[in-house]
Amino acid sequence: MSTRITVHCNTEWAEGSCPTSLMTDAHTVAEARQAAVELGWRAHPDGRDFCPSCSGTRRSSYTPVVHLHPTRTTP
Ligand SMILES: [Zn+2]
Repeated sequence: MSTRITVHCNTEWAEGSCPTSLMTDAHTVAEARQAAVELGWRAHPDGRDFCPSCSGTRRSSYTPVVHLHPTRTTP
């Protein structure tokens, strides 16, 4: 059984909100947010997270999914 925790960007505009999210296979929210931070996300203590583009942390490539606990069952 694998847990999937998705970190969502909490940036909001007048027209809507940022659709960016990061899917992880972290076991805890804290672990998921830590992985996001390592990818350039900004995790605020109040529980809101901001994607790299919204937080100003530019990365050369956007990573939509991060695997923290790779399984060897997949061929
Ligand atoms: Zn964003």
